[in-house]
Amino acid sequence: MKTIISANNLIKSYGSIKAVDGLSLEIAQGEFFGFLGPNGAGKTTTIRMLTGIIEPNSGKITIAGNAYPNLKPILNMIGVVPESRGFYDWMTAKEYLLFFANLYGISNPHKKIDELLEKVNLSDRKNSTIGTFSRGMKQRLGVARALVNDPKILFLDEPTLGLDPQGQEEIQNLLKQLNKSGVTIFLSSHQLNEVSNLCSRVAIINKGRLVVQGTIAELQKKTNLAGSLKDIFLALTNNNHV
Ligand code: ATP
Repeated sequence: MKTIISANNLIKSYGSIKAVDGLSLEIAQGEFFGFLGPNGAGKTTTIRMLTGIIEPNSGKITIAGNAYPNLKPILNMIGVVPESRGFYDWMTAKEYLLFFANLYGISNPHKKIDELLEKVNLSDRKNSTIGTFSRGMKQRLGVARALVNDPKILFLDEPTLGLDPQGQEEIQNLLKQLNKSGVTIFLSSHQLNEVSNLCSRVAIINKGRLVVQGTIAELQKKTNLAGSLKDIFLALTNNNHV
């Protein structure tokens, strides 16, 4: 399988805190990759480095053969659904997407926006202001925004956080469809059932370091634990607050 994301020995410190401490990851094209770790393990910091928002102190990141700091080809190839985002509540869904489509210089943006709204099941609310949206609708709009440039890789930081079961399922189905259509997905989540159901491979990090990486079957073998991903996670991170 062709590697699409490669991170080699990433280090990022904030003062005396080593948020990421020598992390290396390899993700293959088309993979649905789960990125796990306890609170404060360094997941968001890693995603920020992989998506060019912050620079590592050292280490190398290559996305589809392009290495940072060569930002432009990478930004054209990725979409990001960050942990928290500011929505412009007074804008309609359509205006919001148009704003981002124009930032990316998308040709025929109205057609693109209609397709995206259809994909995230918000067509019937396209002229409603975002302030009237439920949390799940906002989250789906956030995914639509991240898809504006037809990314080959989608990074998501806890996309189902705070959603009810139906909202979670809507996002999960959307991600499954996207992955089926060829988008590589990098998903950070604390919902271990979600990760088990969706991801073909996972990495668990703790204190900025890789603990284990592989398919769930490989993780079971490596840890000698036949149980669920949650059992493996708890055993490896010694953390009871998932
Ligand atoms: P969570 O699951 O709680 O979202 P996380 O795995 O995403 O956690 P990070 O947000 O990457 O973890 O944080 C890793 C460490 O780096 C933590 O100790 C955090 O306090 C610290 N940290 C992250 N961002 C900053 C920052 N901008 N300034 C100072 N410290 C930071």
